[in-house]
Amino acid sequence: PQKKVKQWKYTTCNYCSTGCAIQIGLDAAGRVVTSRGHAGADVNRGKLCIKGILEHELFDSPGRGAEPLWRDKLHQPWQPVDWDTALDHTAARIKAIQAEHGRDSFAVVSTGQLLTEEFYTLGKLVRGCIGTNNYDGNTTLCMASAVSGYKRSFGADGPPGCYDDFEHTDCLIAFGSNLPEQHPIIYWRLKEARERRRFPMIVVDPRVTMLAQFADIHLPITPGTDCVLINAMLHVIFAEGLEDRAYLQAHTNNLPQLQALVAEYDPQSAQHICGIDEDMIRTVARLYAGAGTAMSIWTMGINQSTHGSDGVANINNLNLVTGNIGKPGGTSLSITGQCNAMGTREWSSCSGLPGYRQLENPEHRRQVADYWGVDPDFFPERRGLTQTDIFPAIETGAIKGLWLVATNPLTSMPNQPRIRKAMEKLDFLVVQDVYEDVETNQYSHVYLPAAVWAEKEGCHTNTERRVNLVRNVVQPYGNAKPDFWIFRKLAERFTGNSGISFAETPEQTFEEMKQLSTGAGRTLDISGMTYANIEAARGIQWPFTQAHAQRPATDPDYLKGEPRLYTDGRFQTPDGKANLIPVRFVNNNECPDDDYPFWLNSGRVVEHFHTRTRTGKIGNCNKFSPTPYMEMNPDAAAEQGVQHQQYVRLTSRRGDAVVMVQLTHRVPRNMVFIPFHFYDCVNRLTLGLLDPYSRQPAFKQSAVRIEAV
Ligand code: SF4
Repeated sequence: PQKKVKQWKYTTCNYCSTGCAIQIGLDAAGRVVTSRGHAGADVNRGKLCIKGILEHELFDSPGRGAEPLWRDKLHQPWQPVDWDTALDHTAARIKAIQAEHGRDSFAVVSTGQLLTEEFYTLGKLVRGCIGTNNYDGNTTLCMASAVSGYKRSFGADGPPGCYDDFEHTDCLIAFGSNLPEQHPIIYWRLKEARERRRFPMIVVDPRVTMLAQFADIHLPITPGTDCVLINAMLHVIFAEGLEDRAYLQAHTNNLPQLQALVAEYDPQSAQHICGIDEDMIRTVARLYAGAGTAMSIWTMGINQSTHGSDGVANINNLNLVTGNIGKPGGTSLSITGQCNAMGTREWSSCSGLPGYRQLENPEHRRQVADYWGVDPDFFPERRGLTQTDIFPAIETGAIKGLWLVATNPLTSMPNQPRIRKAMEKLDFLVVQDVYEDVETNQYSHVYLPAAVWAEKEGCHTNTERRVNLVRNVVQPYGNAKPDFWIFRKLAERFTGNSGISFAETPEQTFEEMKQLSTGAGRTLDISGMTYANIEAARGIQWPFTQAHAQRPATDPDYLKGEPRLYTDGRFQTPDGKANLIPVRFVNNNECPDDDYPFWLNSGRVVEHFHTRTRTGKIGNCNKFSPTPYMEMNPDAAAEQGVQHQQYVRLTSRRGDAVVMVQLTHRVPRNMVFIPFHFYDCVNRLTLGLLDPYSRQPAFKQSAVRIEAV
């Protein structure tokens, strides 16, 4: 197809948080024919994974919504309506629900897939116009624990490291992160760095993941016990005097409290809880603390846990104790999930206010209210319900109406039978999505067709705080509209609430956001960025101030932001010191027992993204990964009389699912693994207990039994 290409257009991938720059090839008639990685982009240097290579197939994929649809009752057939009718009806139903049941009886859940300007605009609409406090993003299912842990340790969200740290580190430990399948191009960066400088890599994961296969040391930990392992490592580090005492004294609080707690976690005792041999615990502790620089990365194995926030804080403890924050190769780097999960953290107003401002902080409320021209009293003084608390509130009748923006909870939420019942109770559900056949649309009263990815324009922020530009390459499908357009048009029906105004284009919105990013001591400063310089640099990391922007083209750091945060040891806490947070292990998981003897673990396959809303429409992604399956250990299968490729029924305390078995030694005898992407499968079984700080569900720790069918 490259022979047919007459023009290449720049944009950025819209799946995972790696932030790969893509070129979309168009033929002489302006039709999209292919994609390729952008060789000039620092992130991916011309590479793409299978999802990025095939991403251009999304534009005319099956199931796209071309017109808004309406129905009063779920049993009625859909009626196509024009946009004015759809938005008038939607605004009227929201206002009626709020008038009868109160402002917070209508809830909004968005996604880490939107563009940053769309988050900001939706936040203005929800916080400043509709006025509900029950507003969240599906990032509560993936990154909320990282946000919470960073805030507790460092006083603010924002990953302090970057991919370039792979080039400088002397030791890397990965907790619950399977980069080759989740973030293939970040893995490629790591692999290249290790080929240049053979530093040791330790992988902590109960499953022999692809990343574990490439590691020097694999620690097959008992699910949910990472706090015990890290506490035992810290025990060894303090006992053997391997800590960075000068760094601790200058830059941290709570050292005596942390030392007192980890003194209880000697490796000999810890091994019986976390399943890692005591000598191995000592080995990895010495390796990590003894390295010149060391870095930690993690993903859902930490975040999706009843103690995800504590797990993140404890990883931060490990790095603070060894002096590995804010220096090349020494960092604590959360590998983000969705392409713009970072953007929602920075600008969405879900858990706070734009620019990492806090609802709980009166000065922050005043700053945003002044800038938007609204009464500060219009903002609540604390965040409302998270996505995981909104569905129980639907069950109790506290929430009557819900607007879902590009998220598919019927497939993505734990305990699907319970979510389905909650959906049935809603008086009014709005689904705004690229695809009208998305599963959750079964329960909606209005469907708003959204433009996909490069049919629209705006920014993403990737895992390493790099702001990338998504350029629109083609016009939206049918009569679908960019989410930005939908938010603005709906806002016109609510502005009587506040008199708030909205910029007309994403680029004007970006310029507006920049004004909210400046201020003394703010790390999230994008004031030097423009669409033009972001595109010229193929992405710029924040902070990038006006002073950064004024560097001459001859400067080696021309159009480069700061690769690392906290390089001077000053954190975003009131006294500028990081908080060491003692983390006590509490076993509150649904552990295997006689009735349900297997751990149920879930995760991603490389061909699919989230609930397959998009990748399920791409032929080759489906060819490589067409159906759900269950990994089972051959020894356990022999005990249960189960054969390879046989169908079995899994049952948990929530429901059951039938799935085909793949025998493999990747999983231990007491665990099975199922990809999370498929409808009516693993989340019929998951319990999803919540982390108390982040409200993130423990997707990876449920108990099941298995029967042949
Ligand atoms: Fe897209 Fe992530 Fe693949 Fe890069 S690694 S092409 S950002 S899905």
